[in-house]
Amino acid sequence: MPSVPPGSKVLVTGASGFIAIWIVKYLLQNGFSVRGTVRSIEKGKHLQELFKEYRSQFEYIVVGDMAVDGAFDEAVKGVDVIEHTASPFHFHAEDPDDIIKPAIQGTTNILESALNYGLVHNVLKRSFKTNIHKKSTSLKRVVVLASTACIIEPILEGQKVFSEKDWNRFSLKEIEEKGRGATAAHKYRASKTLAEKAAWNFMKINADKISWDLVTIQPPFVWGPPLQAISSLNSLNTSLVDFYNTITGKMEASPAHIGNWVDVRDVAEAHVKVLTTEEAGGERFIICACEVLRHHLAPFSWQDVLDAVHSGPSEEIFSTVPRGVPGSGKTHFIMF
Ligand code: NDP
Repeated sequence: MPSVPPGSKVLVTGASGFIAIWIVKYLLQNGFSVRGTVRSIEKGKHLQELFKEYRSQFEYIVVGDMAVDGAFDEAVKGVDVIEHTASPFHFHAEDPDDIIKPAIQGTTNILESALNYGLVHNVLKRSFKTNIHKKSTSLKRVVVLASTACIIEPILEGQKVFSEKDWNRFSLKEIEEKGRGATAAHKYRASKTLAEKAAWNFMKINADKISWDLVTIQPPFVWGPPLQAISSLNSLNTSLVDFYNTITGKMEASPAHIGNWVDVRDVAEAHVKVLTTEEAGGERFIICACEVLRHHLAPFSWQDVLDAVHSGPSEEIFSTVPRGVPGSGKTHFIMF
């Protein structure tokens, strides 16, 4: 698939989310036009205000529950790229289906809409080579914001290097065997894994009808400044809540390995780079901070976070941040 030049129109689903707002910002800064889907006018207005300097490049469309069939039918019309970020990210699902179903349905619904309605001209084209009818569409690429949750499996000892070739089978087995008794983390990880699998499978079974390609982006924990409207700390997105609770002492800092992380701005930049890179089509990309950083904060335990905060030059600013047991973290298991 040819790369997508600046000036093209990108549909970003879940545009009011923590990561998505940064993606929208980077797309606009790089000259793309953006249509963002949001669940309410209020959230759309927040985005409009935030991006008022890009007035002619930004628009929003209200799409309610993405799990409803046809939810994205209007939103996909006439776009060159879809960046699908919307997915439930929380750790309070009791029934695994509460999180798994919307994740899968949201993903398959956007792809179904792209197939049926992402048209410039509602005409059928016949390819003389394949003798197959393909709808004429401006759509060139669909990017799905997946996760390293679709890749990693628990490691009890030693270190393991995971790559884009790996798939998380463990969480799926946990859900199969334990159902509601599985941990909240595995319910979330299963939701991401099954949604990503659904996307690749959709591409496979519809290969003869599709003229666009698929890219998935797989970040670990994403941290960085929030741009979304935050009415209370309870409404802060999931990956920032534990960070906030740790540095304010509300949550005890565990010295055990927690995971890997990446800056939200790097995730946003990746969403621009995959559009302008032709060879990205058909690939999965892990986007992760790496070990070369100061204080070896990647991968991390919460104790590593406290150690990093206290090793900086502005010690007095962070005097209220707990110290935990300095140096007790850094049990690094999972690498990419
Ligand atoms: P947010 O909770 O901030 O964003 C999630 C977005 O999805 C929101 O815009 C939300 O809408 C929307 N959404 C959720 N459920 C539905 C639904 N049923 N119908 C329509 N929209 C829905 O989380 P993040 O920005 O952190 O996450 C964005 C994506 O990145 C998710 O797919 C997540 O799995 C993935 N990810 C996140 C990581 C992280 O550490 N943050 C790490 C790896 C992957 P609303 O604003 O209205 O609630």
